[in-house]
Amino acid sequence: MSASHHASTFVLPATDADGRKNLVGLSRDELEAEMLSVGLEKFRARQLWHWIYHRGSTDFAEMTTLAKPVREKLADLYVVARPTVVTDLTSTDGTRKWLLRMPDGQDVESVHIPETDRGTLCVSSQVGCTLTCRFCHTGTQRLVRNLDSSEILAQVMLARDMLGEWPAPPDGRMLSNIVMMGMGEPLFNYENVAKALKIVMDGDGISISKRRITLSTSGVVPMMERCGQELNVNLAVSLHAVTDELRNIIMPINRKYPLRELIDACRNYPGLSNARRITFEYVMLKGVNDTPADARALVKLLEGVPAKINLIPFNPWPGAPYERSTDRAIQVFGDIVNNAGYASPVRTPRGEDIMAACGQLKSASLRLTAAERAAIANVIAEKDAALAS
Ligand code: SAH
Ligand code: SF4
Repeated sequence: MSASHHASTFVLPATDADGRKNLVGLSRDELEAEMLSVGLEKFRARQLWHWIYHRGSTDFAEMTTLAKPVREKLADLYVVARPTVVTDLTSTDGTRKWLLRMPDGQDVESVHIPETDRGTLCVSSQVGCTLTCRFCHTGTQRLVRNLDSSEILAQVMLARDMLGEWPAPPDGRMLSNIVMMGMGEPLFNYENVAKALKIVMDGDGISISKRRITLSTSGVVPMMERCGQELNVNLAVSLHAVTDELRNIIMPINRKYPLRELIDACRNYPGLSNARRITFEYVMLKGVNDTPADARALVKLLEGVPAKINLIPFNPWPGAPYERSTDRAIQVFGDIVNNAGYASPVRTPRGEDIMAACGQLKSASLRLTAAERAAIANVIAEKDAALAS
C-alpha cells in the first residue's frame, strides 16, 4: 500500500465564484506556464511571485511594478485567495489559534506560539488524521481529507497577515519557524506538503529556511528518506513508546512500521549529524510509558542515532484515556535521558486554555456524554480496521 493512500485527496475548486483561478500554491514553473497560457510574458511570473510571497499582496491593483492593463487582465482572470478566518483566539500566554474555513467548508486549525524574539507556527497537513494514536484528539475525528498545497501554504500566509509581517523583517520575525505538527500526518500527504514547503522556503518570497522548519511524523518509514532528500527539513519523530508491544497499542501505525524499521530509517535520514539531530517526541502518559525503566530502554533504543528527546506532558482532551505524568516522574525520566548525553527538554504546554496545545486541536470542551464517548470508540474502531486492511 502506498503511504499516501489512506486519505482521499479532495481537489478543491481552484477557482472562485466568478471562475477566477487562485494563484496561491502554484510553483514557479506553474506560474510561468500560467502567464504564457494567457498571452502574458514569462517574467510576469517573477513579478507576481514577489508581490504575492514577499509583499503579501492580495490585490492586483497594488502591484504597481506591473503595467495597468496587465493588472486589469490579471484581476479579470485570477485571485490571490485566503481562507476565511472563522475564529481567532488568543491564550493568556499569547498563543493564538486560528480556525480557518476552506472553500469546501472544512475547518483547519493553525497555532502561533510567540516567544520574545521569534515565533513558531504549527501548521496542519490534513483535515483530521487517518491514524488513531490513543493519546491524540485528532485521531478521534472521523472526517479526513488531505489539504492541498495551497491550503497548507495559506496557513502560513494568513499568519503573516495576522501578525502584520509583509514584507517580513530580516530579524526578530514573529513568524520565524514552522512546525508541521498540527492536524494530520504530513508524510501521508507528502506531495502537497512538499510543494507548499518549497514555496515557503523560496528565498525571493516567504523565505523561511529549511533549518527553521520541522516536520513531525508518526513514523511513515517509506517516506522518510525522500523527505530528507528533497526537503532536507528537520525531522521530528513521534516515538512515545520503547517497545513494539506498547507502541502497537498507543500508535497503531507501529503495526505496519515497527520500531526497528523506524529507528533504521532515522539512522539513515539524509543530512543527519551531531549538529543536525532528529527530535524524538515522547508524550508522558501517567503509568503507561513514564517509568525509569522506560527511560533506560529509550536511551538503549536510540544508541548511535544523533538525537534529542522532547518530553511532552500529555495534554488532556474530552474522553482521553490517559492522564499526564506527574512532574516528579517527568523529572526523573528526563534526568536519566540527560545523564546518558541526550538533551531532553520538557515542552511547556502552550495555549491550553484555548485548546491549542499538542493533540488538542479541534477539541471543544472537556465535558463529554456517554453517547459521545461511544461515538469516539466507534470512530477509532473503524479507522483501526481500515489501517489493518
Ligand atoms: N501526525 C504527526 C504530527 C502531528 S502531532 C505526528 O504524529 O508526529 C504533533 C505531536 O503532538 C506529536 O508528537 C503527537 O504525538 C503529539 N501529541 C498528540 N496528542 C497529544 C496530547 N494529547 N498531548 C501531548 N502531545 C500530543
Ligand atoms: Fe495523527 Fe499525529 Fe495525532 Fe497520531 S499523533 S493521530 S499521527 S495527528
